[in-house]
Amino acid sequence: MTDIIKQTGSLQPKELEAIYAISRSVAGGIEVETTLDEILRYLRPVFIFDNIVLYVPNSDGTLEPTYARAIGRGRIREADLAWGEATALSAYRSGKAFRKVDQHEDARNDRTNVRYMLGLPCNSGEAMHGALVFIRFGGPEYRSDQVLLAEFVALHVAQLLQHKQLVSRIASLEARRKLDSLQDDFVATISHELLTPLGFIKGYATTLLREDTQWDSATHREFLTIIDEEADRLRELIDNLMDSSRLQSGTLSMTAQPLRLDILLKEISFRSQTRNANLKINLVIDAPRLQISADPTRLAQVFDNIISNATKYAPGSPLTIHLERVGKQACISIRDYGPGIPKDQLETIFQRFYRVTDQNKSVRGTGLGLFICRQIIQAHQGEITADSVVGSGTTFSIYLPLEDRMKTT
Ligand code: ADP
Repeated sequence: MTDIIKQTGSLQPKELEAIYAISRSVAGGIEVETTLDEILRYLRPVFIFDNIVLYVPNSDGTLEPTYARAIGRGRIREADLAWGEATALSAYRSGKAFRKVDQHEDARNDRTNVRYMLGLPCNSGEAMHGALVFIRFGGPEYRSDQVLLAEFVALHVAQLLQHKQLVSRIASLEARRKLDSLQDDFVATISHELLTPLGFIKGYATTLLREDTQWDSATHREFLTIIDEEADRLRELIDNLMDSSRLQSGTLSMTAQPLRLDILLKEISFRSQTRNANLKINLVIDAPRLQISADPTRLAQVFDNIISNATKYAPGSPLTIHLERVGKQACISIRDYGPGIPKDQLETIFQRFYRVTDQNKSVRGTGLGLFICRQIIQAHQGEITADSVVGSGTTFSIYLPLEDRMKTT
């Protein structure tokens, strides 16, 4: 490479100017195609050619064209063009500029059927990145000073390809690093979440089994209740994990059926208040008899999750559940009057494993619930959003398309 650079002295001022402009665009360019187009713009006034093709190696050692432009006479002949693959291969394998003239039938009547090929290795000095081929239809032949100029161009193209390779290598290393750290976080979170209920179950079961102590029936019952609740938690956690991985792989089955939202919401409110006697739900049905097509179990799972989050993160707060019609959609909003969620985290709470930082650390959770909710709602062609004012409370809004026959009424 240094040999070529030493020879810049033999270039004409205009050619040197073009080379400097090309160096500048290579230094600032990342996108190969755009930068090559720019290089061609600088090169055209000082170097005649009809076609240019850039070949890069495949994993099996063959060359593949990744960039080709037909300019001038080449344009009208694009369809039957020879793209100089053999010339590229010779330059690539030998590491040297390679000139070749191809005579095609009817060359005597039509001079443009004589093709002057110039193949140049794209060697950045560190690696061979491919080969560049220039084609002239009907000449003129490439003079050696022109070959030198073309070698400079090929050197810059090699640097561009090297740059691109480095950028993509860095990006894939970065992606790998992120994935590794996500997996570490995942294992840490999940192990902790699984071990906590398991610890309770094991601890209380072992205590109850001790033969040296007699427990009165109230204590006995209390310990069994804890074991029962923790086993439920464990089950819920494993269900969530399985749902989440099925959603990711697109294998979570959903069966849609006609569903009256007012009825579903009444049932869910009733069930939640029976489970939690301290929970007050104010159900406001603005639009009765709204019908959608949905999987009732999965939809109930979404509402249960949001209500259960409200009892976890806004304990003691009443809830308002509001059903209304917004255009061709049903809108269900669930509002609590708890601590709220900072604005900058209102989108991220829907990401897998995300939990709001600095929130009550003693509240247990995995950050899977809202991720699952969003996936389920999106599978119903709907949308779920969160709105919040820190200190005043949070509202989750779910939009679902109405059944077709309702959209026109
Ligand atoms: P988990 O409850 O298992 O942590 P979710 O995905 O259900 O996971 O919720 C993500 C996070 O969103 C929670 O960790 C919590 O920080 C926040 N969050 C959810 N609902 C509320 C709410 N009603 N009020 C305040 N923060 C909430």
